[in-house]
Amino acid sequence: MTTTNESRYAPPADVMVRAVDVHKAFGPIEVLRGVSLDVKKGEVACIIGPSGSGKSTFLRCINHIESFQRGDMWVAGQEIGYTRRGNTLYEQHPRQIARARRNVGMVFQHFNLFAHKTALQNVMEGPVQVLKLSRREAAERASDLLERVGLGQRKNNYPSGLSGGQQQRVAIARALAMQPEVVLFDEPTSALDPELVGEVLDVMKDLALGGMTMIVVTHEMGFAREVGTSLHFMSDGLLVESGVPTEVLSDPQHERTRSFLSKVL
Ligand code: ADP
Ligand code: MG
Repeated sequence: MTTTNESRYAPPADVMVRAVDVHKAFGPIEVLRGVSLDVKKGEVACIIGPSGSGKSTFLRCINHIESFQRGDMWVAGQEIGYTRRGNTLYEQHPRQIARARRNVGMVFQHFNLFAHKTALQNVMEGPVQVLKLSRREAAERASDLLERVGLGQRKNNYPSGLSGGQQQRVAIARALAMQPEVVLFDEPTSALDPELVGEVLDVMKDLALGGMTMIVVTHEMGFAREVGTSLHFMSDGLLVESGVPTEVLSDPQHERTRSFLSKVL
């Protein structure tokens, strides 16, 4: 177990994401009550848990879309949110946060594509606007990525002309276009018709096999079992149980995990 003291030091180089005792409240409501997690390079950490338990909030804290009140977060070797000098905590400048956030890709439940841009333009947007790539370079990168997610033939479609599964694959390509060190997935298949779930999970599995570090909030226990390197059960703002996916799923140690799994499996 990591202690808050140790976290003053950068995690070892093979740890891609380190969260230590992260606390987050919205007004009086404590949503994260001390979440700690280490994810090493190339690992696929899956997070499951009931609705409202804080899963999305935790992901949002990892790339600092949400600030948090207590705890430490390291992503790809950079501290995110706060910087320490001696014993004093300083909130980071938005520019520092933006720089650290560049290492993190995010894929949302509802795709969040630009409706008035084609698949290619959606994927090009970040590299052009943020990384300042030339349009030609960005288009090449975007084409390659759309090819990789099986959408080489649909580059010029607008989101409205794509199925949900295809839109989500565009969203994955868009996240990858920024060449992130880690990709966060927030229930990426929950909004999809059942017959479209597989094509998105297949792309995610390929990505995992390619060595990408991933944190995946999901209800797809098959994916967690097959692709996950660790499985974490979140309940009430805490990771109450963590372990090897097959073990957590077949032999949960905590009553709350057992009760949750009996409802979803
Ligand atoms: P999960 O993703 O596990 O369903 P969330 O992280 O979305 O859970 O939400 C956890 C709790 O935090 C819920 O009670 C939710 O209502 C609350 N919450 C999330 N975002 C906000 C916000 N911006 N303002 C106030 N409460 C929020
Ligand atoms: Mg959520």
